[in-house]
Amino acid sequence: MTALRPDDRANTRVFDPAKDDVFTPSDVSAVRLEARAFAEEVVAPVAHEIACREEDPASFPREVFDGLAASGLLGVPFPVEVGGRGLAHPAAATVAVVEELAYYSNSVAAIYDVHCILAGQSLHAGARTDEMKAVLQGLVRGSFVASFATSEPAASSDLSPDAIQTVAEKVGNDWVVRGHKRWITNSPVAEVLVCLCHHVGRTVTLLIDLKAPGVTVGAPDRKMGNRGQLTADIELDGVAVSDHHRLGDVGSGLSVALRALTYGRIGIGSAGVGMAQRAVDLASERLASRHAFGRPIGANQHWQFRIADLAARVEMARGLCLKAALRLDRGDRVPEPHAAMAKIAGTEVAVDAARDAVQIFGGYGFVQTLTGEEADYPVEALYRDSKIGEIYEGANELQRWIIARQILGRDITG
Ligand SMILES: Cc1cc2nc3c(=O)[nH]c(=O)nc-3n(C[C@H](O)[C@H](O)[C@H](O)COP(=O)(O)OP(=O)(O)OC[C@H]3O[C@@H](n4cnc5c(N)ncnc54)[C@H](O)[C@@H]3O)c2cc1C
Repeated sequence: MTALRPDDRANTRVFDPAKDDVFTPSDVSAVRLEARAFAEEVVAPVAHEIACREEDPASFPREVFDGLAASGLLGVPFPVEVGGRGLAHPAAATVAVVEELAYYSNSVAAIYDVHCILAGQSLHAGARTDEMKAVLQGLVRGSFVASFATSEPAASSDLSPDAIQTVAEKVGNDWVVRGHKRWITNSPVAEVLVCLCHHVGRTVTLLIDLKAPGVTVGAPDRKMGNRGQLTADIELDGVAVSDHHRLGDVGSGLSVALRALTYGRIGIGSAGVGMAQRAVDLASERLASRHAFGRPIGANQHWQFRIADLAARVEMARGLCLKAALRLDRGDRVPEPHAAMAKIAGTEVAVDAARDAVQIFGGYGFVQTLTGEEADYPVEALYRDSKIGEIYEGANELQRWIIARQILGRDITG
């Protein structure tokens, strides 16, 4: 199909964070502009196709992943010792990259989030051996795709040791893993899996080679949105894992996973900000250019108030994401309640902005491709892609629980 309509207005964003954000450190601003240039050049031309195609291992956006590797953007979260950029504010820069990728494709942002944050930060925090450090260097270079598994058919929101049914049994010095993981992003194309396991009433995190005997990765799930983010079930049937592949101490598996998930949820909030910004930009252009009853649709006060509220919420959400990420960068291991607030604010404004964008576009908001004009319209995909942010990496009800726990204390909230 032809180029997207209406014009993307890539250079005319409502309240552009690259210009207006006076709180952002300069290293983060530079990375944001770099990520934006990459997203405009490499992601934007294929974003609609990624958002609309059916899931299949062959439909993984390999050229985009390879581009992220070649550009060095996979190195943004990491220190120089493992091949990363060694930035002063790596977490704030990483979530800015996620936001800029999500502006065009939440699928690409999710691939980056899982590879660099969930898998990458687990490896970075937990690697104890030279072998695991070498794997981390390969991840930073983009030599392979990485995945991360906590979720199972019967356990996902609740990751307590008793809920996890994937069992790691100690055999001699090494491990044998049996279990079933579900929804595992990147797994149909990944080479390694960071896997949370149960071990005698405690948890342990192991790095599993997805080509090892006993591993079966299922066909990709068919989903409402984020079609380029491939997920699948993984069966682990007596998979032998060296103790050199253990990340962190025995018993610390959940804390390795939760640390990565806390970082990841700032990324998911930022992905929401990126999608919301795009929805506001597209909707505001449409409000100005589309006429009904002899005047622009934006002449109706209803839409003026809606677009103003959404733009204000995007700014607030971006500020929360930056604050939570800067707390990570100054060494706060669990930057709550700000990480939870960032996830709620970013993901919920994304859904609200995408829904309003569909409404503002009317029939043109409901189509993927208008056959009569041979034109693609992007807000339908934004609406489908935005919803998952409220669910994964800790459903937003759990984020509200985390915030309430900080306010009222565990004695009351549990
Ligand atoms: C596209 C996609 C990608 C994913 N990628 C990964 C991945 O890479 N790795 C991985 O491990 N997992 C992944 N997941 C799993 C994802 O994190 C879970 O789906 C999510 O955590 C919710 O778990 P669940 O689906 O089992 O829902 P459940 O745990 O059954 O929860 C369902 C709903 O119950 C409600 N709820 C639960 N607990 C509470 C509570 N205490 N208070 C109030 N309400 C509550 C919430 O509304 C929640 O949405 C992915 C899922 C999807 C769809």
